[in-house]
Amino acid sequence: MKIVIKNGRIIDPVSRTDEILDLLIEDDKISDISRNITVHDDYGVINAGGLLVLPGLIDMHVHFREPGREDIETIYGGSKVAAKSGFTSVCTMPNTNPVIDNQALVRFIKFEAEKGPINVFPIATITKGQKGEEISEMGELISAGAVGFTDDGLPIMRSLLMRRALEYARMFDVPIITHAEDLELSDDGIMNEGKNSTLLGLKGIPRESEEVMIARDVILTRLTGGRLHIAHISSGGSVEIIRRAKSDGIKITCETAPHYFALTDNAVAEHLSMAKMKPPLRTEEDRKAIIEGLKQGVIDVIASDHAPHSLNEKMQELEYAPFGIVGLETSVPLIITILVRENGFTYHEAFEKVTVNPARILKLDRGELKAGKRADITIIDPDKKIIVDDTFMISKCKNSPFIGKILYGSVEYTICNGNVVYSHKEF
Ligand SMILES: [Zn+2]
Ligand SMILES: [Zn+2]
Repeated sequence: MKIVIKNGRIIDPVSRTDEILDLLIEDDKISDISRNITVHDDYGVINAGGLLVLPGLIDMHVHFREPGREDIETIYGGSKVAAKSGFTSVCTMPNTNPVIDNQALVRFIKFEAEKGPINVFPIATITKGQKGEEISEMGELISAGAVGFTDDGLPIMRSLLMRRALEYARMFDVPIITHAEDLELSDDGIMNEGKNSTLLGLKGIPRESEEVMIARDVILTRLTGGRLHIAHISSGGSVEIIRRAKSDGIKITCETAPHYFALTDNAVAEHLSMAKMKPPLRTEEDRKAIIEGLKQGVIDVIASDHAPHSLNEKMQELEYAPFGIVGLETSVPLIITILVRENGFTYHEAFEKVTVNPARILKLDRGELKAGKRADITIIDPDKKIIVDDTFMISKCKNSPFIGKILYGSVEYTICNGNVVYSHKEF
């Protein structure tokens, strides 16, 4: 099977290509990127005039709830949402029920993912049972297909355990991914501690709850020479700690989520539990610092932290509602609208965060448009408006503060391993 993508604007952050070219796919590989590729009768043709042709997008932080809460989302269903949203690869978080802490469960995820349209790379737990006590059998988990380790949903509160985890993971050169939060400082808070929490009379989570843990883990990374990746950073203070650590040569990387550069804690009064997530939305100053951190490359990755919850659970009183929002569908439109259109990011600056950077951190041979590479490709119309409504959001659970918003950037085609797995026209 051969497919030619004609006249697209090829954006490849690795080679810094930004040029109108054709791209030829043969079977599951990219075989040519050049001008005026000849189209034969048996070729499939995608006319990409006016569209961006990007490496298949990678979301290194999603929660698909299987095993355990298949009523909320499954690996198959989540993969379809990802394909529709332009993602050809996702990494699933292990805080399911049971948690992903043994080979059989890693293989189960890979097996379920085979039925779906995209690549799923499982992340396994740092600790057995995600109890924060005993380190998982990392070697075995890696040989079953795990690409990193995290106890996401919970921090590693014990410093000695964190030290050992970094030391152990270093032997395999895989990242320890942290949900940076000091639970004692969070003290059962539900939103950012500040003016808005006082006005709303809600218990606050100070930014220091995140920053203290990042500082500790940076220091432990320096001690151990391990590899640390910090998930979902939300505060300007976190950006500063990471900036300094990087300039000191410490091997750390980090991610933020689109909601941290799109929203502030002003959204809580309006959207209530739909704006309740961990870490919480912060202030305008933080939002600007996150954007600056992305622009300067201090923040390496944008990941959705896609966290579906049933509406029944989410519509409880703010205090009892679970943390988290769905993020896959709105990722591309928020990147285009907020980063490219409102903040002047180049396409390279914006999209390296969802292609080559996560690929390098997790050592995935993806995230690049180059002859010989796997044909994972995302085609986007950056000027087309989308409305975040019930047809646009195909997740079973639509817990999102962006419902009703009009944004720019429509995913037109998603191609994974040489197959068109989503086409806007046919959808
Ligand atoms: Zn988390
Ligand atoms: Zn998460």
